[in-house]
Amino acid sequence: MAGPKSEALFARGRKVLIEGVSSASRGPATFGGAPRYMSHGQGARLYDVDGREYLDWMMAFGALPLGHAHPKVAETIAREAARGTHFATALEVEVEVAEMLVALLPHVEKVRFANTGTEAAMAAFRLARGHTGRRKIIKFEGHYHGWWDAVLVNTNPYPPTLLGHPNDPIRIPDSSGIPEEAWKDTIVVRWNDFDALERAMALHGRDAACVVTEGVMSNMGVIPPKPGYLNRMQELCRQYGALFYLDETVTGFRLAAGGCAELYGLEPDIVTYGKALGGGLPMAMIGGRDEIMSGLEWGKVLHFGTHNAGRLALHVTKVMLETLLADEKAGFRRLRDLGEQMTAEIRKVAGTSNRHGIVVQGVSSMFQIFFTDHPEISDYRDFCTHVDRVKFRDFALRLMDKGIYMNPSATLHSLSSIAHTEADIAMTARAMAEVLEEMP
Ligand code: PMP
Repeated sequence: MAGPKSEALFARGRKVLIEGVSSASRGPATFGGAPRYMSHGQGARLYDVDGREYLDWMMAFGALPLGHAHPKVAETIAREAARGTHFATALEVEVEVAEMLVALLPHVEKVRFANTGTEAAMAAFRLARGHTGRRKIIKFEGHYHGWWDAVLVNTNPYPPTLLGHPNDPIRIPDSSGIPEEAWKDTIVVRWNDFDALERAMALHGRDAACVVTEGVMSNMGVIPPKPGYLNRMQELCRQYGALFYLDETVTGFRLAAGGCAELYGLEPDIVTYGKALGGGLPMAMIGGRDEIMSGLEWGKVLHFGTHNAGRLALHVTKVMLETLLADEKAGFRRLRDLGEQMTAEIRKVAGTSNRHGIVVQGVSSMFQIFFTDHPEISDYRDFCTHVDRVKFRDFALRLMDKGIYMNPSATLHSLSSIAHTEADIAMTARAMAEVLEEMP
């Protein structure tokens, strides 16, 4: 239950804000009532206006690999804000961060900065269409690439009766206000299914501007790719002349210094980054080989933005990357080790609770807990059919009452930061064991 000050803010907020918040996943639809209004954060902890403390496993939807208020980030923002917040001119730090990105990501020769994952994806899709002269976009069930009309299709979990045949999914736009023309060239394919991919490429590959995929499915919990699946996708893209677009918004500077591309040995034609890239400030980028990225030159494929390459955010990106890369990438190793320890620890707790079917899935610093009777959740259809989302919400809200914050939506995931500790993992495991005992 939210405390009295949060309740009072919610009563005021819902009079002037839609659902009292600015994004549905922060409001009553997720929390079943008033959300907790947070006042500040420090390290791995958040504090609400009622003075309650939470161990935060959500980390601003993945935007905070260094945790809250990291001293270097706080210092950088204070120093740079005193020199001016935003110039919308060319900047030295813009060149420096671009150089760092190009040095870190072998498949990226040029970058363009944007502010959010959605914006970067919109520009990337336009670039793919502009570069190839083709219209179709091939995307996968349950994959989210931002809230743009053309790809906001089959991103929500629907009842199994609405999914359609696995070879020919029913396409469902996830919002009203999206005209059919916007997504008529969007082909939706079952993910992690080699045959479905071969079939879709044989049918549509020659007309496809790009095939876009999340490297690890991160918007239906955490679902890793089957061995060789993304590599086959890349091969098929090369064969049919479609660009291979790896959306690293969640996974970039999270799972490894080189994201999923490094983890699975991929050479995507286009990548987009967001979330962690900004270390807590709005920052995103589109990257790829010069030959493709040059399509954006002189506005041939247009991408504008008053706030592109915001200087405060770029300074934070720089210090965040320097911090994670120091000591031969020790920060990235720490993120991964903590995530893997957490996954192992909560698996142990889940294993000893014989009243609830639980599967824990994780990759590096990301993990999710599924209440399910299934041994594994390997795609969107598994999620829609076998995951008890209501039970997960109950679980997460009970954990929250014990001071552990995991987002109550089963479609999301939890993440470690370098501010988390082994003691935090033990504390979470203890709270989780208690909650599982209390749950009906
Ligand atoms: N791509 C992926 C894979 C995402 O998970 C998200 C956000 N959850 C986006 C794109 C959109 O990013 P943003 O919310 O910054 O617009």
